[in-house]
Amino acid sequence: MTSSLSSLPRLTLCVLLAALGLPAVAAPAASTANAIGLPTTQLPRSASPTHYDIALRPDMANARFSAVATITLDVLQPTRVLTMNAAGLAFDRASIHTATAAADEITATRIVGNEEQQTVSLHFARPLAPGGYQLRIAYRGAIGDQAAGLFYLDYDNGGRKQRALYTQFENSEARRMFPGWDEPAYKATFALEVAVPAGQTAVSNMPLQSDSALPDGGRLLRFATTPRMSTYLLFLAAGDFERATVREGGTELGVVTQRGALPQARFALDASRAVLRDYNDYFGLPYPLPKLDNVAAPGRHQFFSAMENWGAIFTFENAILLDPAISTQADRQQALLVAAHEIAHQWFGDLVTMRWWDDLWLNEGFASWMESRTMQRLHPEWHWELNNIGSREAAMDQDALSSSHPVVQHIATVEQANQAFDSITYQKGEAVIRMLEDYVGSEAWRDGVRAYLGRHAYGNTVSDDLWRAMEQAAHKPVTAIAHDFTLQTGVPLIRLADVACRDGATHLTLTQSEFSKDQPAKAQAAGATQGALKGTHWRVPVVAQTLGGARVSTVVAGGRASVSLPGCGAVLLNAGQAGYYRSLYTPGALAALSASFAQLPTLDQLGLLADSWALSQAGLQPASAWLDLADRARPDAAPQVWSRIGGVLVEIQQAYRNTAQTEAQARFARYARGRLAPVLARLGWDAAPDVAAQDANLRAELIAALSALNDPGLITEARRRFVEGQMPPTLRRAILGVVAEHADAADWDRLHALARAETSAMTRSELYDLLGASDDPALARRALQLALTEEPGATSSATLISRVAVKHPDLAFDFALAHRTEVEAKVDPTSRSRYFPQLGSLSADPAMVAKLQAYGRSYLPPESRGDVHAAVAAVQYRVKNGAARLPEIGAWLAAHER
Ligand SMILES: [Zn+2]
Repeated sequence: MTSSLSSLPRLTLCVLLAALGLPAVAAPAASTANAIGLPTTQLPRSASPTHYDIALRPDMANARFSAVATITLDVLQPTRVLTMNAAGLAFDRASIHTATAAADEITATRIVGNEEQQTVSLHFARPLAPGGYQLRIAYRGAIGDQAAGLFYLDYDNGGRKQRALYTQFENSEARRMFPGWDEPAYKATFALEVAVPAGQTAVSNMPLQSDSALPDGGRLLRFATTPRMSTYLLFLAAGDFERATVREGGTELGVVTQRGALPQARFALDASRAVLRDYNDYFGLPYPLPKLDNVAAPGRHQFFSAMENWGAIFTFENAILLDPAISTQADRQQALLVAAHEIAHQWFGDLVTMRWWDDLWLNEGFASWMESRTMQRLHPEWHWELNNIGSREAAMDQDALSSSHPVVQHIATVEQANQAFDSITYQKGEAVIRMLEDYVGSEAWRDGVRAYLGRHAYGNTVSDDLWRAMEQAAHKPVTAIAHDFTLQTGVPLIRLADVACRDGATHLTLTQSEFSKDQPAKAQAAGATQGALKGTHWRVPVVAQTLGGARVSTVVAGGRASVSLPGCGAVLLNAGQAGYYRSLYTPGALAALSASFAQLPTLDQLGLLADSWALSQAGLQPASAWLDLADRARPDAAPQVWSRIGGVLVEIQQAYRNTAQTEAQARFARYARGRLAPVLARLGWDAAPDVAAQDANLRAELIAALSALNDPGLITEARRRFVEGQMPPTLRRAILGVVAEHADAADWDRLHALARAETSAMTRSELYDLLGASDDPALARRALQLALTEEPGATSSATLISRVAVKHPDLAFDFALAHRTEVEAKVDPTSRSRYFPQLGSLSADPAMVAKLQAYGRSYLPPESRGDVHAAVAAVQYRVKNGAARLPEIGAWLAAHER
């Protein structure tokens, strides 16, 4: 899946992720054992399916369906009872016969559902002997209005009300459409048949095999049988669709949209073709299915934007369609990024699947790493490698809190699996892969990936299967380092303990401890004496250089290492920024590096800025170190540098705001505006048509940052353009963002009227979202009330409340809890344990801690409170440390006021 967090404004991403990217469970001690122990299951292992034949009869108007599932299976041990997954299904009849003799058929005497366990047990009068069987089940179910199981989306198409059906099965929702062994290790083949009304069509994983007329004027569509795959990858969509295709090698690539939107999917189609060509080469195994569709759907979800169903990717419209009236350069990049992520899953996840959710990162870490790699290869002019710093920061932000968890973690329940889709699984997974690839070399890494995929195609794996293949390909001890970073929680801290220049070479002593935001002793303990080290030990691949000198690689093991670098001069640690660790310099070494800031490659400038800010937040470096660095950035520095500086300036301003230091806040905001406004002035409001992508992005980000910093001139200008309708597509979202943030009641009403009148589903949900963006608590309350109505649309309400929570977390959390039942109806069932903690997680109010804990105790079983613990840790950290650096920042400002 693609996490929908990536669609938040990039400038504020690191800030938001600090609280939104929440970990799953407090680190379980036994995770290592589980990763290599017996396969996890929630079902008895007495039977195993090999093929599902599912005939579905949806009643779209009444949001329900009836179906018959015919399942070919092997009974592995004598049993009278077959237990499989099912949720929200009603059963009419079940019978079974041996694979060879249909005359043997016996009917289940009892069919016992267990909604809490999400299982159904079929009881037979006599035991089934081991062997092959065919099981036939007639049942009925509901079609939901949230993205879980089989669901519908209502939308307006050129004035006509339309309803379309889609499925969303990851992680454990296939059981809402058919009874089965709904665990990733139970791979089987699938043949799907569906009846659709006249004028509609359907899409599934495989091409259509047959199409026949039904007496009621509708059509009966049957799809070709899939290869062996996991249940969570099955897909079906039905509605009034259009489809366009191109060919790439032996594959038919398609995009499927609501009627009329096809031209807006053209970019995604062309981009997918380039991606597929690249992956066919990289993975060394051609894409194995005859076709690959990408199905665009109106609506949205608060936790994901796309899903990698094999052969039929599902993507919400805002992550795939480019509407010439509203789309920006960032949208183009996002569309390619999401497609690259989901297409990578066609191999990593679909062809080779993790055995159980413990190893979810094998899917998500890899797809995230491949998406970045693809952006760099297909569009080198975008310099996507610079975004690697932001994604690593998102991971470290979560990983440096005591509530974090290892990349490979023990998952016991469906809710824990849901909570595992977080920054550790995605961004730390990605960062660890990047570090290991750098350590073994890109060719050896590719060979290891090819060997792993070839060996496990159509099968299931654990992480050690990858490390084994990699070690054989690379002839380097990858496994030990990989274990350190995937089975242990936390962020290593590499400290430059000593540096000396002798005989034209620089001699370094490096020590390793742990970077922790809420357990500072872990870093402090790393004194000069090796025996005193506390915290976790890692084997850390470190790359160092003197500026302009050659890079030298080493592995810091046992907490300490000595390195000699050719040449003398300022020393840079983590040169090239492939490492997953923080670098702490001696004051002298940092001063030397700061003085050469402008000469550093942009990637290293960004890495140094990120480390410096995080270290000062944790009290390991004075905040002045970051301020000095940022103060050296010139207006013509790389756009990504300004983007990062802007993000931190807004974060500092927010810390002032949280502590209600109005005067100091205003003074800081003046300084911050003084830094950012000249950069915006250089770019100008009105873009030349050939403006570079990163300049276009930076313009939008600076407008958002200056708006957050209450820049009066900027707010006036944005209002003027809004009122006069001067909103070209490239600026439209930025202008509306400013207006929404500083809206008075009249502005809000005006935005509301725009939202109500809008007919494009994509633009409409964006406008409703903006209604939740106001600074004014009274307008935020109106947005919350609006979210409870039918007006925004079933899938837009939860996002609207989340949007309010960015500015007013306490208000949004209290409101959602006060209307818990109504709000839960607007969130899919397994996301609820994440949704409420997420709303409160940005709070800076100490009272939120008790509120979150009370919510967890009242509504969640203990094993599903991982997101509550993480939100509590984030709030506690913000309450305790949020203001700690402000006096220092104030003093620096006083000394530097111009
Ligand atoms: Zn994914």
